[in-house]
Amino acid sequence: MQSSARRDTSGRLAITTESGKTYFSNGVCQCEAYRRSTACKHRALFRLYAIASEIEETVPEAVSLADDVAASDRKTLIVEIKAAWPKSWGPIEVELLRRFRCSDLNFFAEDVLRDIRLAIAA
Ligand SMILES: [Zn+2]
Repeated sequence: MQSSARRDTSGRLAITTESGKTYFSNGVCQCEAYRRSTACKHRALFRLYAIASEIEETVPEAVSLADDVAASDRKTLIVEIKAAWPKSWGPIEVELLRRFRCSDLNFFAEDVLRDIRLAIAA
């Protein structure tokens, strides 16, 4: 029998051990080790689960710029390119014309827009 742990509806951690016994732990426990010393592995596991779920709640999902750019539509890409265009690159129309022989982003292929957006961020 495999040991397993899951939350029950009252927030307790239901831990089924190798022996097939299930303990419900939320800081107290019904097992023999807890009765003797309060130092049982079920409480330790409950605490670990509590810490783990806190971490999951507080860590924001990391979205890389590459993923963000890949998910953007062309309208968003054009707006972002115009907004993020570095001043040091000179006027956007002049630079686009020089590099791509076209000064209007609306005529650019979507993958080219993505490349430009990522080049700005680099
Ligand atoms: Zn226990």
